[in-house]
Amino acid sequence: EFPITIRSLSEAIGRPAKTLMTMMFQRGEPLTINAGLDEETAIELSMECGVDLEVRHERDIELELVEKLTGGDDDVEGETIRPTIVTILGHVDHGKTTLLDALRSANVADGEAGGITQHIAAYQVEHEGQKITFVDTPGHAAFGEMRARGANVTDIVVLVVAADDGVMPQTKEAISHAKAAGVPVIVAMNKIDLQGVDEQRVLQELSTNNVLPAEWGGDYEVIRTSATTRQGLDELLHTIVLTAELHEYKGNPNVPAHGVCLEAFRDEGRGVLAWLIVQQGTLRIGDDVLCGPAYGRIRAIYDDHGNELEEAPPSTPIKVSGLDVVPGAGDHFFAMADIDEAREAAESRRQRGRAESLAGRGLPRTLEDILNQ
Ligand code: GDP
Ligand code: MG
Repeated sequence: EFPITIRSLSEAIGRPAKTLMTMMFQRGEPLTINAGLDEETAIELSMECGVDLEVRHERDIELELVEKLTGGDDDVEGETIRPTIVTILGHVDHGKTTLLDALRSANVADGEAGGITQHIAAYQVEHEGQKITFVDTPGHAAFGEMRARGANVTDIVVLVVAADDGVMPQTKEAISHAKAAGVPVIVAMNKIDLQGVDEQRVLQELSTNNVLPAEWGGDYEVIRTSATTRQGLDELLHTIVLTAELHEYKGNPNVPAHGVCLEAFRDEGRGVLAWLIVQQGTLRIGDDVLCGPAYGRIRAIYDDHGNELEEAPPSTPIKVSGLDVVPGAGDHFFAMADIDEAREAAESRRQRGRAESLAGRGLPRTLEDILNQ
């Protein structure tokens, strides 16, 4: 027997028992407060109250979708080498943005619209015949938050440490985030152009923070760089390429597309624009997409140079239009079977979001949660 009563349901969904009893009365089934409800009726009542009990935890649904879309682990047919995805982390002012710009500028043609000044959430460069995608996360906090939500978009972390400043609090946080993500770390000892920097001191500080430099017998390459004079940038790219070759990052362009939203905003002319990184599959114009609380049919795809694309294979950073509302950074996106499926999923998420803000924190999400109360 299903051990839910009007009383326990009322407590669980934060609606008065009287309301639920009235609803049952109107159905022609008057019940007392301690009368049992069957599962179906409990779900129907809570739905009428704007609480979608049937929807299980967000993360489980997303993992299930990924599983469904990729066909599980053993289906690797069609897998190919994909570009490596790199995130740059480090303490504030150690040169992350300058380094990202310097690495990109070699790949930006003179006179390109907006050029280097236009903000982009991710871009791709080619080095020694290999494509590398750089993701500009707004700091390690965002990196950690995205990882906590299962949005592991990074293959390699480049840890920027300013040579004049050494290992600082945010450097340490970045180290622990990278280690928790289990990805290789390459250190860029930046601002090496400055007078009187003490390289040995920086190496020492790295060592005491469990980042033992390769030159001292450890696992971590420490590349001397200057984002301003461009010293060491080729060596940094070369080290990324070597690391990528070692790991052979693979992707399958033949499954339905899914990946992560890096950031999104509303554009005056083009509506919602979202920076996405495709992790698996190929996203095409016309695909019906669910992305966090948003859904829509992909109207246009732009690459990091603002060129229009027809489709985007794995590891491609793109900007897309067509979503109906602005999704959040770290929201997963999925190409769905059709627009109805995408709409239904998005609407139930929004309804749940509303129900949660109405009922306040601690709202049980599932029937199981109620039973465990
Ligand atoms: P972020 O906070 O890590 O993104 O750091 P920024 O890229 O904004 O750089 C902070 C400051 O350091 C800026 O004034 C940069 O011009 C400067 N900077 C960055 N890289 C270098 C470098 O390699 N050498 C020198 N001398 N200055 C640098
Ligand atoms: Mg910056």
